Amino acid sequence: MLDFAGLLLLGYPAGVKEQNFFFVLLLLLQFAANLAMAATSASSSSAATDAETLRRNRILSSKLYLDVPPSKVPLIYSASYDISFLGLEKLHPFDSSKWGRICRFLITKGILDKNSIVEPIEASQDDLLVVHSESYLRSLKSSVKVSLIIEVPPVALLPNCLVQWKVLHPFRKQVGGTILAGKLAKERGWAINVGGGFHHCSGDRGGGFCAYADISLCIHNAFVLLNISRVMIIDLDAHQGNGHEMDFAHDRRVYILDMFNSEIYPFDFEAMRYIDQKVELVSGTTTNEYLKRLDEALRVAEQNFNPELVVYNAGTDILEGDPIGRLGVSPAGIISRDEKVFRFSKERNIPLVMLTSGGYMKSSAGVIADSIANLSSKSLIDM
Ligand SMILES: [Zn+2]
Repeated sequence: MLDFAGLLLLGYPAGVKEQNFFFVLLLLLQFAANLAMAATSASSSSAATDAETLRRNRILSSKLYLDVPPSKVPLIYSASYDISFLGLEKLHPFDSSKWGRICRFLITKGILDKNSIVEPIEASQDDLLVVHSESYLRSLKSSVKVSLIIEVPPVALLPNCLVQWKVLHPFRKQVGGTILAGKLAKERGWAINVGGGFHHCSGDRGGGFCAYADISLCIHNAFVLLNISRVMIIDLDAHQGNGHEMDFAHDRRVYILDMFNSEIYPFDFEAMRYIDQKVELVSGTTTNEYLKRLDEALRVAEQNFNPELVVYNAGTDILEGDPIGRLGVSPAGIISRDEKVFRFSKERNIPLVMLTSGGYMKSSAGVIADSIANLSSKSLIDM
């Protein structure tokens, strides 16, 4: 641009008024600048269109939306969800076999037939690329990186193939379950993935025991394959769901209601800006106070947004005595909470996906099983 102006100056005939010359020059420079801006904006909007087409094609060629026969219930689980790792799992406060224990409780209670559980497919690299960047997925080939995400330092010392097999494979299977839950919820009105809910992970960042952004992946698949364009995330895990908040920061198709303890991890103030409806709790919030705040929140959410799908992140780390969630909700309070959310969806005919998310105590599995039993006894789900 400066060279072009310099040439004009050199070649300009003597005797013409300087004012006119500079005016013409300014106009030319402005015109050139506008052309450059238009070219940049066209190229960035064409890059965005290309990325959207690529995402759409990846979703269309995914194998995760299985045909599930009517003999099965929309309750999704695989034995490979559970993480057991030479006893290393005991170093993390997370009960890493919670998912299997939930199912065993339900089977023992006579509520669930083992043969009616839906087994999902593991999410492939292409499935994950729908939301994740190549560079983020590549970074998981480092055991150090994975150890930081799942907060188990000894994992850093293990060969990555072991980490893939024992940690990331179970997570990818749970991701497949969350994505499939979207389809089953649309078909049956509800679906429960007995796992998933990795709400701290976004497309390019993992953390807080969350390596893959299953909620974002479920919603993008629903947009394309279920022809859905309005999704409400109801995130009632004790922690702020900063992963999906970053992923849908500027996406008006997704409404986020997040009720969390604001005095614990992750303190993600950037992601907080993208919560449509924020309910901040303090440590020690009791059952009555919690359920009152939830009733109010659901009333407001209903007025603000009319979803075609609800994704319910039902972490049980709100349970009293949980050292990480630090809230004081009783087991009966959790059962009542889940019932309120299922009733909210059922009364409005909105398909609902439930994910079990956080819940770090040995007692969590039993509470979740009791809650599912309660949903069944109240005919909010049909087992
Ligand atoms: Zn949590």
